[in-house]
Amino acid sequence: MTNIHAGSIDGLSSHFPLCMQNLHRELRKNSHLKHQSRLQYTLFLKGIGLNMQECIIFWRKAFKLITDEKFKSEYLYNVRHAYGDVGGDANKRGRGYSPFSCQKLLTEPLPSAGLNHGCPYRTYSPDNLIALLQNVGVGDRELLRAVREDVGRMRYHIACNRVFESTHKNEIKKVKDENLWNASELDTILHPNEYFKRSFLLKN
Ligand code: SF4
Repeated sequence: MTNIHAGSIDGLSSHFPLCMQNLHRELRKNSHLKHQSRLQYTLFLKGIGLNMQECIIFWRKAFKLITDEKFKSEYLYNVRHAYGDVGGDANKRGRGYSPFSCQKLLTEPLPSAGLNHGCPYRTYSPDNLIALLQNVGVGDRELLRAVREDVGRMRYHIACNRVFESTHKNEIKKVKDENLWNASELDTILHPNEYFKRSFLLKN
């Protein structure tokens, strides 16, 4: 994937898994995200190929209600830190931190009320989760019924893969029918960045 820049993110967000679509929507709605959400989203954006300079531009434009001075003093450092440009131990210098996996997002402490980081299949109530899925265009009633059942059994990750398979079913059928991908390329998704990559490749 080439040429991902700050202005690409809105267009690419339809390929994001629910955890990242949710943060993107919150950011656009409030022109702000709290620290943990920013870190989760910054590392994801880094993982899809957004370089540090473009990531800084992305956040600066997104936080449009604050001044340059406030952005520089309160937010810039954290973006540079995520990319390993400042701070951290010597191992992380120059590389920064890795994007969070599903396992990390599914096992970290639950966010306090009003915070949106983590995996919404786990952190949202079933009713709020279904509403969120409908808001991002997932409306198939049978699918939503199965998702509700999955999350009721704490099978959050299965629910996410179920949504992926349903929303990409035509493309998955095509690559299977025409033997375009190895079976391993369609294994269960275990990482938000894999979700994005697979969605992007299937739809383009
Ligand atoms: Fe994101 Fe993974 Fe949760 Fe899917 S299962 S929403 S990719 S954290």
